[in-house]
Amino acid sequence: MKIVVIGGGAGGYFAALTAKKLNPTAEILVLEKSAKVLNKVRISGGGRCNVTHGCFDPKMLIKNYPRGSKELLGAFSRFQPLDTIDWFKKRGVILKQEDDNRIFPISNSSETIIKCFQNEVEKLKIKVHIKTKIDSICKIAEQFELTTSKNELITADRIILATGSSKDGFRFAEELGHTIKAPLASLFTFNIFNFTLSNLSGVSVEKVKLKLLNSNLESTGPMLITHWGFSGPAALKLSSFGARVLAERNYLTKLKIDWVVDLLDYELIQLIETACKSHPKKQLGNLYVLPIPKNLWRALCKRFNLSTKSSLASLNRKDIINFSKSLKNDTFNICGKTTNKEEFVTCGGVSLSEIEFKTMESKICKGLFFCGEIIDIDGITGGFNFQNAWTTGSIAGSAVIS
Ligand SMILES: Cc1cc2nc3c(=O)[nH]c(=O)nc-3n(C[C@H](O)[C@H](O)[C@H](O)COP(=O)(O)OP(=O)(O)OC[C@H]3O[C@@H](n4cnc5c(N)ncnc54)[C@H](O)[C@@H]3O)c2cc1C
Repeated sequence: MKIVVIGGGAGGYFAALTAKKLNPTAEILVLEKSAKVLNKVRISGGGRCNVTHGCFDPKMLIKNYPRGSKELLGAFSRFQPLDTIDWFKKRGVILKQEDDNRIFPISNSSETIIKCFQNEVEKLKIKVHIKTKIDSICKIAEQFELTTSKNELITADRIILATGSSKDGFRFAEELGHTIKAPLASLFTFNIFNFTLSNLSGVSVEKVKLKLLNSNLESTGPMLITHWGFSGPAALKLSSFGARVLAERNYLTKLKIDWVVDLLDYELIQLIETACKSHPKKQLGNLYVLPIPKNLWRALCKRFNLSTKSSLASLNRKDIINFSKSLKNDTFNICGKTTNKEEFVTCGGVSLSEIEFKTMESKICKGLFFCGEIIDIDGITGGFNFQNAWTTGSIAGSAVIS
């Protein structure tokens, strides 16, 4: 049986290796358009490759996928982060889990992952053709006919489409009868109109709650202030879950920030009131009772029209109530997005309902399998996107040889 994998990225490699390991007699050919395979793996995680995430309960794991979570539940029961760790360990690559549960190679280098894949490909004698761009795919009877950009014809009994977010892959899938959910950016940072906190660029806040107004989209977690607006896990997560809504609003919408998530309104008022009574002579700018960095605290006082120099004794109950409300309901105008350099993905792709997730085979075109980012699945930042590639690659690779 001849199997052709189109795309030499994370998903394509994992599928090819799985298939050949299970059926050493199968002829497996990987076709990659660029001069190097595994390009995204190389640059991933700032060159460290965030391979997966230390979350081993499929029910919890799927919560990190704005699109595809329902379909991935069963898929993760077949291949999940523990299997990823084990797969690499068996091939001599030790992974480590960091405090935020992201998992990297202990070498802190994506080259370790690439070397591992290349060793495996050589060991299993899988053919990889680089600089081979597929231009068209036709299915004639039970066979696939692939034409390269150099007009060469390649035939296959089965194919795995693993072209990531490339337009080519979406076109092939569409020509073979599939619906493509419009591709859009996911995982980006928010640009804020007339941003008054830009001098605090680089300051991070441990925990905030972000909400997109006029939607039920919100996220809680650490946030980073940038020159243009907001980044960090809470912002990236909201951009991911809100990718479609934000695109519909043309990235022009209102963002609400709760700077003190862990305190209810009345607790916050009480805390400030108590501090005012205990330290009446202290200046507001020096009141550090909340989990907000000092320079941000002072900037927020000014933002809410309170002088940092005013003594706590001068604040009346109304001032305190208004200040507390502002801290919990601060509003900014999003006026655009900036793509995150560390990790960005495309949401959209081949419609989930057209894929049989037990095998990753198309329900529309027999013999055609999908894996990785070409599918309408994407995860938030933290290793979830590679885990999708490993999981769907492993399932496609096992099923394609059966
Ligand atoms: C800068 C950056 C950093 C990232 N870091 C992380 C991270 O640390 N952790 C994480 O989980 N995710 C990360 N991601 C996301 C992750 O890289 C992707 O989700 C993952 O690579 C998807 O794998 P894939 O195999 O589906 O697609 P890809 O890795 O994109 O591979 C697709 C391959 O198909 C080839 N191809 C396309 N069209 C054709 C054609 N017509 N003919 C032949 N070949 C073709 C492409 O050249 C490419 O090599 C990052 C993404 C970026 C951009």
